[in-house]
Amino acid sequence: MNAFTAIRLQGISYAFGSHTVLDDIDLTIDAGSVVALLGPSGCGKSTLLRLLAGLTQPAKGEIHFGERLVAKPDWSLPPEARDIGMVFQDYALWPHMTVAQNVAFPLKMRNVPRAERDARVAKALARVGLEAFADRKPSGLSGGQQQRVALARAIVGEPRVLLFDEPLSNLDSELRESLCTEMARLLRQLGTTAVYVTHDRREAEILADRIVHLSAGSIAAVRAVTPSSGEFA
Ligand code: ADP
Ligand code: MG
Repeated sequence: MNAFTAIRLQGISYAFGSHTVLDDIDLTIDAGSVVALLGPSGCGKSTLLRLLAGLTQPAKGEIHFGERLVAKPDWSLPPEARDIGMVFQDYALWPHMTVAQNVAFPLKMRNVPRAERDARVAKALARVGLEAFADRKPSGLSGGQQQRVALARAIVGEPRVLLFDEPLSNLDSELRESLCTEMARLLRQLGTTAVYVTHDRREAEILADRIVHLSAGSIAAVRAVTPSSGEFA
């Protein structure tokens, strides 16, 4: 699938019962760009990401990936049909599988032949610096290494959209910084359209081309990040 996919949200609203979580969100994410959704806990970041993933449906509005409608009220293209990769805060690795088996899983689901699968898993593990850990179990890895496995699993299928929900929040601050810089570099190499949820302004500045500030379910500001305000080189 083409890696260059724009994302368009038009008039997106979402509520839990009478509690409005997202209120009339309009946002266009350019193909190949990295957008950070930044805001305090409870402002609706994860809900917006779940709508992009197809894990939940909007009450109002539409979402397009490129020319394709993926969500409208009471209808939503399921996650497995959206060609996305996701990374969560808690890694969500399968403990009984090796690193290589975890990374291979999305390809297996799509019946990618064994030889191609092995080659792509090796390439994804190399991209995150884990070639030497292919046969380990997740329990034998540090938190940072486990999150790299989750990252390799997200990119192995070369999805058209990558979605991140506070992937570094469980790591200590030094590791957070180095992994953040590394992810910024990787996202630029891949050129995949990405949405990165965080409550950490610094992470947003290192990773993103644009920062969308969410406040109580609305977009409060959108700001471009100049390369000098981030740390990556
Ligand atoms: P963030 O990721 O920015 O911390 P969320 O998108 O998780 O915020 O949540 C936004 C709002 O929706 C919060 O007020 C939260 O309490 C509420 N919320 C989230 N999940 C549920 C749920 N399953 N049921 C009811 N309210 C929820
Ligand atoms: Mg959240």
